[in-house]
Parts: sequence; C-alpha cells; structure tokens
Amino acid sequence: MVDKILKQHNDFFRTGATKNLDFRLQKLRELQEGINRFESEIVKALGKDLGRPATESYTSEIFIVLQELKLAIKKLKKWAKPVRVKTPLLLQPGRSFTIDEPYGVVLIIGPWNYPFQLLITPLIGAIAAGNCAVIKPSEFAPNTARVIADLIADVARQEHARTVLGGVETAQSLLDKNFDYIFFTGGTSVGRKIMKSAAANLTPVTLELGGKCPCIVHEDADIETAARRITWGKFFNAGQTCMAPDYVYAHRQIKGVLVSEIKNCIEDFYGDDPSESPDYGRIVNEKHFDRLLSLFDLKKDISMAYNRETRFIAPTVLDDISIDDKIMQEEIFGPILPVLEFGETSDVVSAVNIPAKPLHIYLFTKSRSAMNQVIQSTSSGGVTINDVLIQSASSRLPFGGVGESGMGRYRGKSSFETFSNQKSIMKRWNCPDWSLRYPPYKKGLNFLRKFFT
Ligand code: NAD
Repeated sequence: MVDKILKQHNDFFRTGATKNLDFRLQKLRELQEGINRFESEIVKALGKDLGRPATESYTSEIFIVLQELKLAIKKLKKWAKPVRVKTPLLLQPGRSFTIDEPYGVVLIIGPWNYPFQLLITPLIGAIAAGNCAVIKPSEFAPNTARVIADLIADVARQEHARTVLGGVETAQSLLDKNFDYIFFTGGTSVGRKIMKSAAANLTPVTLELGGKCPCIVHEDADIETAARRITWGKFFNAGQTCMAPDYVYAHRQIKGVLVSEIKNCIEDFYGDDPSESPDYGRIVNEKHFDRLLSLFDLKKDISMAYNRETRFIAPTVLDDISIDDKIMQEEIFGPILPVLEFGETSDVVSAVNIPAKPLHIYLFTKSRSAMNQVIQSTSSGGVTINDVLIQSASSRLPFGGVGESGMGRYRGKSSFETFSNQKSIMKRWNCPDWSLRYPPYKKGLNFLRKFFT
C-alpha cells in the first residue's frame, strides 16, 4: 500500500509538474480557498477533539495557516529566484549562483495538540518548494484528521498531496520507506525514533520537539501584565502547547504578588468554576489526563479540581515546588503551573539550560542588562521578552528548537528553505584556459601563493 502511494508520488514528481512556479502558486491558492470553505468543519472537529473554544481554534490554527499561505503566495516568486554570489578572482571569468530545488516526495507527521496547523503549515512550505507530500495526522485528534483528509482530497491531486490516516504502526510503515525528506512534530522520545529510521536511508529531517519552556519574571517586571499574559499563554488549549510556559521562575521579591495576580487572572478569565467556562479546553485523552495527575502529590495539592469523566483539570498554580519535584522532571503539557523562586539572574540563567535546551524562553523585565544576560547566556529555539506564545503569530520569525527541543526551522521563508535543496551552480567560460593548473606543475604553486594568498 505504502509502496504504491510512494510510486504514484514519485512518478508525478518526475513529470516535473510540481517544479513549475505557476502550478505551485495555483495549488497554494486552491488550499487557501479550501481552508476558507472548510473553516467551520475544522473548528467543529477541533472542538470535538480538544474541547477547545472556537476563538482559540481559529486564532491558533486557521489564522496562522492563512497568514502563512498569504505570505507564501505573495513572496514565492522572490524566494524561488536564483541567488547570485561572487565568483573569486582566481575563478574568473565565471558566474556563481544558488538555486533551490525541491527534494521530491516528503513525509510530514503531526501531533494532536494543534493538529491542523502543525500539519498544514509545513505542507505549505513543501508545496511552495515544489515537492509532493504525504501527511500523517495524529490518531489522537481523529475528527480533525478526517477533516484534513477531506480538505486535501478536495483541493489536491492525490499523487501531489495526500493524507494517510492511522496510528503508530501506520507512521512506522511510512518511515520504513525511502522518502526524500521527513518533517516531524511531536515528543522528544518519538523524535529519536524518527531520526533513527531516517538514518537508514540517510533522509534529511526536521524535528520539532517538546521540552520544558521556562518563564522568568524579574523583580522589575510589570507584574499585572506579566500575570495576565502568563495566565493566558499557560492555560490556552488547557496548557497543551509545546511552547507554553512550562513553569515560572519568579524573583523572590515579587513571587508572592505574582502568584496571587495569576490566581486573580484565572478567576477573571474562567470564572469561579472553570469547568463551566466556554473559554477553557479539556485534556485530549485519558492517557494524558492520568499522566498529568501522576505528576504531583494529590494529597499535598488538595486545591486542584479535576474530573476524569470530562477530562477537565482546572487551571492550577503550584507555588510550593522545588526543582527536584517530579513535576519538574518532564514536560508538563497541561494546565498546571509550578512557580519557583530565584535570587540572582545568573542562577536562573544557568538553571534553564539544565538538563536540556528549551524550545523557548520567556522573560519579563524592564532591565536591558537582564534581557542581554538571558539572550546571550542561554541557548534555546527562541526568546520572547515581556510576552508569551505571541511570537508564533509571526510568519517572519523562523520557528524551531535546538538540542533536545529539535532541529531545523520553518514558518514563512524558512519553510520554503527547509523543503528545498540549495544547489550551487558555477558557469565557466572556455577561454582563457590557464595552463598553470595542469601538470606538469612547474610554476603553478608559486603563482597561487604569490598572488592569491
Ligand atoms: P508524539 O510524538 O506521541 O506523536 C506525534 C506523531 O508521531 C503522531 O502522528 C504519532 O502517530 C506519531 N508516532 C508516535 N509514536 C511513534 C513511533 N514510535 N514511531 C513513529 N511515529 C510515531 O507526540 P504527541 O503526543 O502527538 O504531541 C505532544 C508532543 O509534541 C509534546 O512533547 C510537545 O511538546 C510536542 N510538540 C512540539 C511542537 C513543536 O513545534 N516543537 C509542537 C507541538 C507539539
């Protein structure tokens, strides 16, 4: 079955049709129109899979994808132009440039937490760069996966782009085959397996992985704004966001005020009983619900409200946490926010890269030196100052992790570059044809040393 699919894609790719810029632009426009047509079905499916408010689904999935499409359609001709580079004097007369060529047939595997956006955004890059694509949505967002399959079948020729539905076994049967590029979004441990499979065929990969994103709140921060933004970013999609603040490091002078402000914001946003709020999501499935409850001591954290039947976990702040607690040992990926304290910025700067480099670091401060210290002395996929999550609404900022949080970048032009092989081209003239480069090498070396080093 997978062999047949791959053959159809390879045959179509070899016709050269997808390399044509007008074809690519037409396909992007058709995808754009299709998403507008399918909008309400997509939002409904996301609601069923994640119990997520429609506003959150629109802003974090459809809006982002439409922005990506708008930019790609506007800029594709510019991105795809050959780029001229200088030709060294020694190699004159000649011309040098790079051109971007598509890899061929690419495989895109997505997660369940933003199941539409995290599959379609890379697909836009793959199509813009002239590839054929097979996309595999997460089995844990089955309603969204079905709508994606309907949408793609509606807007694309199946040998150009198609959806393959299924779980881990389906993903593995795809990974066993020789794709020209693999783009994976998901957890770090599965990311390792993907890279291992890719290594068998020396297939290049982009890995968009998870981890713990710290949020540092300095003593000079605007606490009210910080609390509002952290609360929004942490509890958006019930905390199931790869780049949500996983935990907060608050300066000891402001920790108490910050915690009480965050608790006030939770009440302002979701009311006395968040289980009744139309603006608050649910945990995706029982497995993740149980995983979240196992992360901490239910006897100690008695204030936490949850309901297994509806997979509801209330937005919860834990302020009696130490770095050695279980909840600090793995990515939380749910609506639980531990708040730790620090004294010196230098302590927190060395702590946030242990044990791994995060996908993103957030810092709330007015101090330029604190900003510089965090930007320069830590390593992560990115840093956002005085806000959270919002950076992902920009298609101009490349997105990706480093170390355990991933490798490779995408969004906007970076998506086009990710799915393109940059080919170096040199054109030479037949004359002159200096004899110095040919054997017998008599004076060639001296000439090279004297004039070109
Ligand atoms: P996951 O790694 O369990 O699954 C992702 C995809 O991989 C799914 O389509 C699944 O079918 C497939 N898969 C699972 N096990 C596999 C295996 N053994 N072999 C081959 N394929 C396999 O991730 P998830 O639970 O869907 O998503 C949550 C994780 O993804 C979190 O860790 C989160 O931080 C991360 N994430 C990262 C980003 C990012 O952009 N960096 C975005 C969203 C989620």
